[in-house]
Amino acid sequence: MSKRPSYPDALSVLREVFGYPAFRGSQAAIVEHVASGGDALVLMPTGGGKSLCYQIPALLRPGCAVVVSPLIALMKDQVDALIQLGVEAAFLNSTLDADAARDVERRILSGELDLVYVAPERLLTPRFQSLLERATISLFAIDEAHCVSQWGHDFRPEYIGLSALHERFPDIPRIALTATADHATRAEIISQLGLEGAREFLSSFDRPNIRYTIIEKNNARKQLLELIRREHSGDAGIVYCLSRKRVDETAAWLREQGIMALPYHAGMDASSRAAHQAKFLRDEGIVMVATIAFGMGIDKPDVRFVAHLDLPKSLEGYYQETGRAGRDGLASSAWLAYGLNDLLLLKEMIESSGAPDAQKQVERQKLDAMLGLAETTRCRRQVLLGYFGETLEKPCGNCDNCLTPPETWDGTEAARKALSAVYRTGQRFGAGQVIDVLLGKETDKVKQNFHQKLSTFGIGKELSETQWRAVFRQLIAGGYLQTVPDGHGALMLSEVARPLLKGETTLTLRKIRERAAGKIRTGSS
Ligand code: ADP
Ligand code: ZN
Repeated sequence: MSKRPSYPDALSVLREVFGYPAFRGSQAAIVEHVASGGDALVLMPTGGGKSLCYQIPALLRPGCAVVVSPLIALMKDQVDALIQLGVEAAFLNSTLDADAARDVERRILSGELDLVYVAPERLLTPRFQSLLERATISLFAIDEAHCVSQWGHDFRPEYIGLSALHERFPDIPRIALTATADHATRAEIISQLGLEGAREFLSSFDRPNIRYTIIEKNNARKQLLELIRREHSGDAGIVYCLSRKRVDETAAWLREQGIMALPYHAGMDASSRAAHQAKFLRDEGIVMVATIAFGMGIDKPDVRFVAHLDLPKSLEGYYQETGRAGRDGLASSAWLAYGLNDLLLLKEMIESSGAPDAQKQVERQKLDAMLGLAETTRCRRQVLLGYFGETLEKPCGNCDNCLTPPETWDGTEAARKALSAVYRTGQRFGAGQVIDVLLGKETDKVKQNFHQKLSTFGIGKELSETQWRAVFRQLIAGGYLQTVPDGHGALMLSEVARPLLKGETTLTLRKIRERAAGKIRTGSS
């Protein structure tokens, strides 16, 4: 039987085993509910403290808790941390050899273990299922529960089978946890896992200490350097880039400017990756330039800024990545620079991905929500939280739009010119070519296509190229223009463009903002 001491209540476990004085947020309610045998669905932002929600009930209830986690790479770290605290924990996944796995199984059966972390594919094997029937199981914890959602970006087919747990072990409490679930995903988790009777614990996703800023990309690296020098000199931060190449270049460039920057991406060898990560965690003031491969399970409380040099693909991703800033509750920045090319590139990636149509449709919607945040003139926090189903009563006062309300201008005339230039050039060209036509530039490509003969040639000289790019970006984000699904970035008019083109509706555009605050460039002349 278990060697572990028995604890009188949850608070004693929190203090004596984990060494924390008090529960955070809804942890106490969740722990009590699960410890007394109830099912739960826990939605809590990353860093909110989900692990304790099942670890403490695991220590309070008799038997071994089974934790399902898709992140094999993190299992060992979690188990090691528990062992350090004196908890009897182990994991079972493909990295163990047969002998080690048999030993873990023996310890589950003998009642020695308090927690075992298992990969979902292993959990569902007949061998493990029969083991579960012979052992005393205290609870099932299903971590990263959104992986059960077919349309989520992290879908794991093995998660679908987890509904069987409920049927085979109806008396064992289950707790499903996730940090990313909009309304639809939540409903899917509940129905897929048979959690209709579970209590839902929804934590606020608001991170009031994070200041959100989204600016027009001009020269992203220089803009970033300005941000660091102006507001974050000597601070630890994470800079996200879309490609490995840009990660390497950006890190090298920042180092030339005297910033302690290190690269991190999946193309590097494992040992330098580990070394950079360790340095980031240990030293002060390191700026990690990374692809989104970096950050899962990174628990560094004093990351002062998270900067995106490229547009994330979804608000879920943006929220998770920016959420790595300011875990200690102190003032921090989430900063994003984006421009027309980001948007065109991401649209192209979706169209040329070869994914099934239904999935492409989901990806388009997710990108549109991200664009909605980038283009909004409202409080960013209200828009962001609104996406996760949460209402923030008042504008936050701690985002760029609240601090420096965006200026707008009547873009109707400019939009009409842009749309007709797209139309006149045959809806076969990308934004760059159409802008050359508007500006009346006689480039080779213009001449090859006889575009200098068009009535729209040179009708847009009152705006600069940068300003035209902002117009096109907003027309695409607003759905007036769409990319032709051929993967070459050609633009065509969509249905909603018609009334605008005919002069039946007007369009208000936001002025370009190239810096966090202060200097604002006008979008009209
Ligand atoms: P999540 O899984 O929700 O991202 P974790 O469970 O990893 O979050 O917890 C994030 C961090 O917060 C960890 O370092 C954890 O030890 C710490 N933590 C969690 N709950 C508490 C608490 N009640 N008091 C102090 N620290 C806590
Ligand atoms: Zn705001």
